[in-house]
Amino acid sequence: MEFKLSEEQELIKANMREFAKTYVEPVAGEIDESGRYPAEIIKKLGEGGWMGMPFPVEYGGAGADYLSYAIAVEELSRSCAATGFTMSVHTGLACGPIALFGSEAQKKKYLTPLANGGHLGAFALTEPGAGTDVGSATTTAVLKGDEYVLNGTKTFTSNGPVADTFVTFAWTDPEDKRKGMSSFIVSKGTPGLSIGAHFMKMGIRGSQTSEVVFKDCHVPKENLIGNLGDGLKIAMSCLDHGRIGIAAQAVGIAQAALDESIAYAKARIQFGKPIAKNQAIQWMLADMQTDITAGRFLYYYAAYLKDQGMPFSKEASMAKVFCSEMCFKHAAKAVQIFGGYGYIKGQKVERLLRDAKITEIYEGTSEAQRMNIASSLIR
Ligand SMILES: Cc1cc2nc3c(=O)[nH]c(=O)nc-3n(C[C@H](O)[C@H](O)[C@H](O)COP(=O)(O)OP(=O)(O)OC[C@H]3O[C@@H](n4cnc5c(N)ncnc54)[C@H](O)[C@@H]3O)c2cc1C
Repeated sequence: MEFKLSEEQELIKANMREFAKTYVEPVAGEIDESGRYPAEIIKKLGEGGWMGMPFPVEYGGAGADYLSYAIAVEELSRSCAATGFTMSVHTGLACGPIALFGSEAQKKKYLTPLANGGHLGAFALTEPGAGTDVGSATTTAVLKGDEYVLNGTKTFTSNGPVADTFVTFAWTDPEDKRKGMSSFIVSKGTPGLSIGAHFMKMGIRGSQTSEVVFKDCHVPKENLIGNLGDGLKIAMSCLDHGRIGIAAQAVGIAQAALDESIAYAKARIQFGKPIAKNQAIQWMLADMQTDITAGRFLYYYAAYLKDQGMPFSKEASMAKVFCSEMCFKHAAKAVQIFGGYGYIKGQKVERLLRDAKITEIYEGTSEAQRMNIASSLIR
């Protein structure tokens, strides 16, 4: 067993740190404040080969392993969680289904422009009445001639307002709750596809979130991903991958909280000495470092299993639930270390606390992760 990254993984980590420090860190506060989509950064990420890292070069990707990709998400999220999430939902949940289950023609037509950064992807699964309980979805797809006709409304779709390509899910046999859902690729501009309500959020404000509405939306038959009835399998498998990205995002946010806390604790003078000289503050820093290291190794392990072709669903859930909860806990500790100044807009730790919360919710809540872990224990 070797507890170190390969030279290539170290290089990717250093390169993404440099990218994030140069292009992302200086504008992350403004992106949060305005809630704007960081189009110029996403374009640069695409040009640098970051938007399709774990996919084969022949389909526009960088041919990296999944661990390298997750490390890049951590380093990007350390500067801006919204940008890190935009990259991770695009990679894990929009490119992922096509790369893992798509046909050769779909990979050429849809995965290639997504992975090379020319297009942005979204994953539209959640519906107003179907969040954790995916089976309560009501969107349908009915085959008419050479097309599926989709009807239904998806909600909380990340990248929805700015995406070129949507991977979505609809019942092709509503009676069969196990194998009646199928997965489709829908391009922006397809008649019957529209973007509904655009949500304002507590955190990750630069990530764009909206409803996606299908109203008699005609999708070519060849845009079915995998086999008819594979929808749930595709969704769950890609969410397993995506959770490694969210765990990495959470570690990045927590690392940023620690970075900020150390610098402030050394600089802030109270009672004639830096607050870092107090054991109460030192213990908070020590606990943050310990938990961040534990979380990092959990997501590294899940990504390692994935890269070895071994089962990793339980480990991805363990990484996600641990990293997201420790991230929220320690982002709050960082605000505590900053005292009143941590509660003021414009302080990075104030943003980090708001960004941290979502990691416990999306791509399966903490409760959903525990359900997944427990079900594998008592099967
Ligand atoms: C900012 C943001 C971005 C998102 N991006 C996407 C996206 O790109 N694509 C997409 O498809 N979805 C996306 N989502 C949706 C997200 O994955 C869901 O919000 C999440 O899965 C929870 O679903 P819900 O909000 O309907 O909550 P609910 O399922 O209604 O859950 C409410 C509460 O009940 C708990 N609960 C539910 N069932 C159980 C149970 N059986 N046992 C114990 N507790 C339970 C939950 O854990 C939660 O605490 C996003 C959401 C947000 C907020």
